[in-house]
Amino acid sequence: MNGAVSALRARRAAGHGYIAFSFYSSSSTTTAAASEAWDGRFRLHKPRGQHLLTNPRVLDAIARHAALRPGDAVLEVGPGTGNLTARLLASPAASVAAVEIDPRMVEAVTARAGALGLAHKLTVISGDAVAVEFPEFDVCVANIPYGISSPLIAKLLFGRHRFRTATLLLQKEFARRLVATPGDGEYNRLAANVRLVADVRLLMDVSKRDFVPVPKVDSSLVEIRPRDAVPAVDLGEWLAFTRACFGQKNKTLGAIFKQKRMVLELFRRSRRRPEGHDRTGSDDGVCVGALDDDNDEGDHQGKDDDRGAGPGDFAEEEVVAFKDRIVGALESSELAGKRPAKLSNDELLRLLRLFNERDVWFH
Ligand code: SAH
Repeated sequence: MNGAVSALRARRAAGHGYIAFSFYSSSSTTTAAASEAWDGRFRLHKPRGQHLLTNPRVLDAIARHAALRPGDAVLEVGPGTGNLTARLLASPAASVAAVEIDPRMVEAVTARAGALGLAHKLTVISGDAVAVEFPEFDVCVANIPYGISSPLIAKLLFGRHRFRTATLLLQKEFARRLVATPGDGEYNRLAANVRLVADVRLLMDVSKRDFVPVPKVDSSLVEIRPRDAVPAVDLGEWLAFTRACFGQKNKTLGAIFKQKRMVLELFRRSRRRPEGHDRTGSDDGVCVGALDDDNDEGDHQGKDDDRGAGPGDFAEEEVVAFKDRIVGALESSELAGKRPAKLSNDELLRLLRLFNERDVWFH
């Protein structure tokens, strides 16, 4: 880019309110309000989740909730034109790494940081947040594109980086599912998987009217705080187990695990498992792409669960003996009559352990 164009861009950026405001000053509202407005300089792409958060009070509140400390390295996903980024840069945090897929937004947020005189604190990573490697970070703060909520949370929580908190703006319904607790009508696989390793809480609801363009859905701000101590369970095994449980979460565990199709599937998986290979504690190569593919009623209800469940290349007696092991685990758990969505993770972990002790494996 030549100097003249660059200067012009900077002027345009400043003209559109890319000016410094004080994150911590309450008198900044008017200035900030002007600076958040969307100037329509290019078409926003809804399938990319490009709904810009333009309410300065909400943006301030997100930054406040993130409670950034001096020296923090912040990760932001989908900075867009930088409305939230500007606050993160103005905070006591040492640096912000922002991952953005749209080159136009990369340019916009870069120009914004420059206009604020805070470019030295910002690194923009151009690419898909689900695919790129994240840098080390202490805190993640983001109004993310809602389409990647589940894989992104999986990547944050089961990826290789340790961090203090993730403060994320999410679609309201997704946020409700995320913070649900056992026994809630909407308790689900996503919540169970996330709760295995983190505490989650709802911070505030945000109206769809605070975005440009106005989306169809409302939003909620959620804090995810990874636990210091997580249960000693093989992650792949746990994820496969919760998939089996929550695939039919309104049936009892007894009904789920005694179905012939389930018995045969677990029989195959358990036989496939290499002899004497203890998987506990190793989560290498585990695919954690989706945490919330529970299938609720959908596919399974009212259908013949036994269809296509022929014995194949093994003896019927072997399968019968295997089913006895499943029944044994269920009986000693005393959970056979319970529905998965009512169980705490401790109870689910206990049942998984009882299965594994009897050489019934899910992964
Ligand atoms: N955080 C900004 C913008 C939110 S819109 C604000 O609050 O105003 C969501 C942003 O995420 C857009 O800039 C969009 O281009 C970007 N985005 C969409 N999919 C992405 C992906 N897979 N990886 C990184 N960024 C993505």
